Amino acid sequence: MANLLSMIGYIGTGLVIGAYAPQIWHLWTEHCSAGISERAYALWALAAAVFLGHSFMIGDAVFMVTQLVNLVAMAIILVIARRFRNQICAAHARQLHVREWFC
Ligand SMILES: [Zn+2]
Repeated sequence: MANLLSMIGYIGTGLVIGAYAPQIWHLWTEHCSAGISERAYALWALAAAVFLGHSFMIGDAVFMVTQLVNLVAMAIILVIARRFRNQICAAHARQLHVREWFC
């Protein structure tokens, strides 16, 4: 039962990684920080650090790994987003232009 619960937890961790990967890839390859709130990511990173501490205290391995993934991914996003602040790729520029056109 514990193994099944851990497996379900690690599937969740895999989904978390799968969600961050395209975001980081787009930031890094396109130098595009469109739609990224540095303040929100900073708060989420802080929350992940607090959850990581909690997971150590309760000794939950799945939670430790997941919060570590969250913390590292958000730190990477924050550093890259800050580096490419106010830069957007052609695709996002087109989307913003279209939005302005219709609003
Ligand atoms: Zn973009």
